[in-house]
Amino acid sequence: MSYLAENQDLDFPSFKNLESLRTPDPDGFYGQFGGAFIPEMLHPNVEELRRCYLDIIESEAFQTEFRALLKDYAGRATPLYFAKRLSERYGTKIYLKREDLCHTGAHKINNTIGQILLAQRLGKKRIIAETGAGQHGVATATVCALMGLECIVYMGALDIERQAPNVARMRMLGATVVPAVSGNQTLKDATNEAIRDWICNPVDTHYIIGSVVGPHPYPDLVARLQSVISEEIRVQLLEKEGIANPAAVIACVGGGSNAAGAFYHFIEEKSVRLIGSEAAGHGVHTGETAATIALGKPGILHGSLSMLIQNGDGQVIEPYSISAGLDYPGVGPLHAQLAASGRASFVPVTDDEALAAAFQLARLEGIIPALESAHALAVFEKVKFEKEDIVVLCLSGRGDKDLGTYTKFLL
Ligand SMILES: *Cc1c(COP(=O)(O)O)cnc(C)c1O
Repeated sequence: MSYLAENQDLDFPSFKNLESLRTPDPDGFYGQFGGAFIPEMLHPNVEELRRCYLDIIESEAFQTEFRALLKDYAGRATPLYFAKRLSERYGTKIYLKREDLCHTGAHKINNTIGQILLAQRLGKKRIIAETGAGQHGVATATVCALMGLECIVYMGALDIERQAPNVARMRMLGATVVPAVSGNQTLKDATNEAIRDWICNPVDTHYIIGSVVGPHPYPDLVARLQSVISEEIRVQLLEKEGIANPAAVIACVGGGSNAAGAFYHFIEEKSVRLIGSEAAGHGVHTGETAATIALGKPGILHGSLSMLIQNGDGQVIEPYSISAGLDYPGVGPLHAQLAASGRASFVPVTDDEALAAAFQLARLEGIIPALESAHALAVFEKVKFEKEDIVVLCLSGRGDKDLGTYTKFLL
């Protein structure tokens, strides 16, 4: 794997063991990142979750129900597909983990199924969520319909206008979509509204966060629920190639949940290169970007300490990416630590590079990827692999939702 090879036997000297890279300490810290920086009034809700989440999600009853729904409702296991023509194009063996084939079109359903089962066991009757592009809102509305629970989705008023099809989906599924009219009327404002709601309804309401972000225990909770992705990859690779570990795993990183799920069981396997791709927008240094690891500095957003794109005064800078799912100024604390420790590398990918990768996959393999996933595909233009390397790429979602954007670039 050419330029990556020299990193392969890193000792990660600042960590006692690699397990400590993927599991936070009891206060929710991954090294210096993570924690729970929340207003006092949110403490009872988060504390209840922190006390109960591991016992519940590790219980046999939970696992049985979770696995059954993943299989029969979400359509797991998703295929691990050997992409022959893409492999020939790049001179290496490429497998695609087909999260795009999940019910609702992306990996997000893995998390919302898990959290709705957790909410039921905590006796919650009402579900709230925040959403930007609407993908997490749709996944949440879906499982609320499935379980017959009330669903309120907060969404920036501007996003409601921009993402009409997903708003219609949520409403058809029976959810109430509440516009956030403060600030820029986008994701950050929707998150503030959801937090306000949770403070006012501490007893009967569960807040389903959509990525490995937010206060402890959310990053760990969501990573564990998504870790079914790497669990399946290992079994499927053994079947197909007779080995459990690929040379590398590649995934795009917004908040970082599909990457956390795809990396999870490989974090301890030093021989496996972990490569995240983040959205560089028009370019890392253009001021119109969402390349958090490349540009970020430690700061607190949405309840945890992580890498954050901010100006000299510590004000969060409005991110930009062509891909709504990657258009986030922060990143989960797990990834901040994977970057700081050198265990994973993060590659910035521009809008144009992602678009080219999306069209290439469509025409080489007959698969139209989500714009987010296209950022992961573009890594093959930037990182060289050896012929015999087996590289697994997490294809986080399908591109139907992005056809409006793709159409503008059709020749
Ligand atoms: C939401 C989304 C992402 C980004 O979220 P992560 O938490 O970083 O995985 C990536 N791909 C798709 C298809 C999405 O819908």
